[in-house]
Amino acid sequence: MTETADVVIIGSGIVGSSVAYHLAQAGCTNVLVVERETHQGKGSTGKSMGGVRAQFSTPVNIQMSRYSIDFFSRFDEVVGHPADYRAHGYVFCATTENHLAYLKANRERQIALGVTNVQWVSPEDIVKMVPQLRVDDILGGTFCPTDGFVDPHSVMMGFMLNARERGARLWLDTQVTGIDVEDDQITGVQTSRGPISTRIVVNAAGAWAAAVAKMTSTELPVEPLRRQLVPTEPFNQLPKRFPMVIDMSTGFHFRREGKGILLAWNDPDETPGFKTEFDSTFVEKILTHAASRVPCLAEAEVNPRRAWAGLYEMTPDHHAIIGPAPNVRELYFVNGFSGHGVMHSPASGRVTADLIMQGHSDLIDASQLSVERFKEGKLLEETAVL
Ligand SMILES: Cc1cc2nc3c(=O)[nH]c(=O)nc-3n(C[C@H](O)[C@H](O)[C@H](O)COP(=O)(O)OP(=O)(O)OC[C@H]3O[C@@H](n4cnc5c(N)ncnc54)[C@H](O)[C@@H]3O)c2cc1C
Repeated sequence: MTETADVVIIGSGIVGSSVAYHLAQAGCTNVLVVERETHQGKGSTGKSMGGVRAQFSTPVNIQMSRYSIDFFSRFDEVVGHPADYRAHGYVFCATTENHLAYLKANRERQIALGVTNVQWVSPEDIVKMVPQLRVDDILGGTFCPTDGFVDPHSVMMGFMLNARERGARLWLDTQVTGIDVEDDQITGVQTSRGPISTRIVVNAAGAWAAAVAKMTSTELPVEPLRRQLVPTEPFNQLPKRFPMVIDMSTGFHFRREGKGILLAWNDPDETPGFKTEFDSTFVEKILTHAASRVPCLAEAEVNPRRAWAGLYEMTPDHHAIIGPAPNVRELYFVNGFSGHGVMHSPASGRVTADLIMQGHSDLIDASQLSVERFKEGKLLEETAVL
């Protein structure tokens, strides 16, 4: 007998799991999540740095962060599983007048949208947070104490376990190979485990979302872009607790990860593609930026075998695509997070569930994130991409 579901979600990463959770919360529990891997988290979610922040430049990203960070702060109680949210803050360090003007405009927008705890910090304030930082060229910055980190794997598992406790189902080791459409209406999904009869499909396939969209001849502008992270060996020359520090002169940023330090930098020479091998030449590049901003990091030991690479799912304007497909009824996208899919997972799951259940969301004006914005030239440029 053909399996049936009210909603099929393709992909069980943090985003698909959040959609399943929010649908179940809204009373829609006949949900089937289909994941091609043998366990959850093998896509970008398992590779993430786990950073969450409200310090964005566009209203929609600030609104999504505000909802999400509040959600993370209550996650354990509400979802019944741990998120490991640590409110250690993010500090952006400006080295030019342009950076300062940019942070000032962002802070005003953030405060206007209810993120009222973003503070101006002087170089002296920054040194108090991280005494080892070189601040001779830092003019100031902004610090938001409720920014911080979560454990992406725990959040994903929490969302999914809660949804499953309410009746949602998860098929692992099952690839979606086709989506059936008749008269512009979805009728089912083809998988390696057999067909599923459904009228509603959510594409939560992360960096692979464009290939899933192609199954209904829909163009989805989502491209994979490799992103590499380098952990140091145990390093005790930096404080045990400090915020995520962003050096705006290079984009280099770092935070504590257990006994070591996790180093991140967006290599401008990276080109799109499904590249998930770590490139060992990246170590020298990132250590140069690290030692320049934090001289003692020149002494940090790095084992390249413990470094890793994963994929950002980039859109042309670095904003997510959330909402219905233009050409197929009841096909929903929740894709293209451009490096922010973990931090925005609560909001994106909620907005997608709202759209499915009510046709609109009062959390954000979701029409801004529709895929049609690219065709209509209504791009939303986010410049605070790390
Ligand atoms: C190195 C790195 C650092 C990052 N740091 C941060 C950070 O600090 N903060 C932040 O918010 N974000 C960060 N991100 C981005 C974040 O990890 C992603 O935006 C997020 O994980 C996307 O979640 P997802 O569920 O959409 O995708 P994924 O986790 O990739 O899940 C998609 C799933 O779909 C499945 N799938 C695909 N095609 C099919 C198919 N045909 N059939 C069945 N299943 C299919 C895949 O197997 C996969 O499991 C980082 C990413 C990387 C790579």
